[in-house]
Amino acid sequence: MAALPWPDGKRFAFSIFDDTDLARPGNYEAAYECLYRCGMRTTKSVWPATGPGLEPRGREGSTCDDAEYLRYVLELQRRGYEIGYHNAYHTGLHRGQVERALDRFRELFGHDPVTMSNHALSREGIYWGAARLSPPLSTLYRLLVARGPGSHVGHVVGSPYFWGDLCQRRIRYVRNFVFGRIDTLASCPWMPYHDPARPYVNAWYAAAHAQHCAHFVDMLSEAHQDALEASGGACIVYTHFAAEFVDASGRLHARVRQLLERLSRKPGWFVPVGTLLDYIAARRGISRLSAAARQSLEWRWLAHKLLVGAG
Ligand SMILES: [Zn+2]
Repeated sequence: MAALPWPDGKRFAFSIFDDTDLARPGNYEAAYECLYRCGMRTTKSVWPATGPGLEPRGREGSTCDDAEYLRYVLELQRRGYEIGYHNAYHTGLHRGQVERALDRFRELFGHDPVTMSNHALSREGIYWGAARLSPPLSTLYRLLVARGPGSHVGHVVGSPYFWGDLCQRRIRYVRNFVFGRIDTLASCPWMPYHDPARPYVNAWYAAAHAQHCAHFVDMLSEAHQDALEASGGACIVYTHFAAEFVDASGRLHARVRQLLERLSRKPGWFVPVGTLLDYIAARRGISRLSAAARQSLEWRWLAHKLLVGAG
């Protein structure tokens, strides 16, 4: 596929989807303060579930029912950050609660989520676990990786966790495969794409896998930054800003700050994930995933997963 021209004569595009796992007041904000100073607007995800029996702040992180956490998230939105969806909560919720969580998201942020990613431990994950893959790879995945069949059933009609129709109606882009290289468009030139075998998701996007701080530092190394600029591609980093980016006194890891500052001086288009995907979709539409492209993504991702682990 031909390289895309980026707005304002920028040479490449860059974004981050921050998975909200572990995030609670004090352990992630310094990353955003640095991004903000660098002029980079990205995407921060949340768990908007609300109701009895749910924990606003705990070991897993905070939900939007944590008033202090929510205050900062709303401030991020005011500053131009996209708020994304990371399933309703950190454990599985039934359809009624998922619908309430989506309503709550709309109430808090003014619209339905544009982007989402599945949370590994939410049973209502959509086409997740072995369902990310087609046979025979799904069987291989069950044998080698998964906790058992049927662990993610958000797309399975008849399950109490089913919410596929809500996802189709209310969410534009869902993250799927992650890869080890910085240029996500080179890893997945078809994104955003619709997979006719997974109809409840309107469009999927891929990402550059940087699970924790150490992975992020590797992904954004000087050599990788220069390669991204040279390729003219687009990078969507998938990471967890609450995973070791910020120390106990609230200070951002020095190497992360140094790398973000360096990247920000390059002629990149630094926008939230939803803005980036909307731009690509407006230029060349949502592509329909072919069987050959699906096979290429699935094999490469499974190899990455077996080598690197989570993601
Ligand atoms: Zn997660």
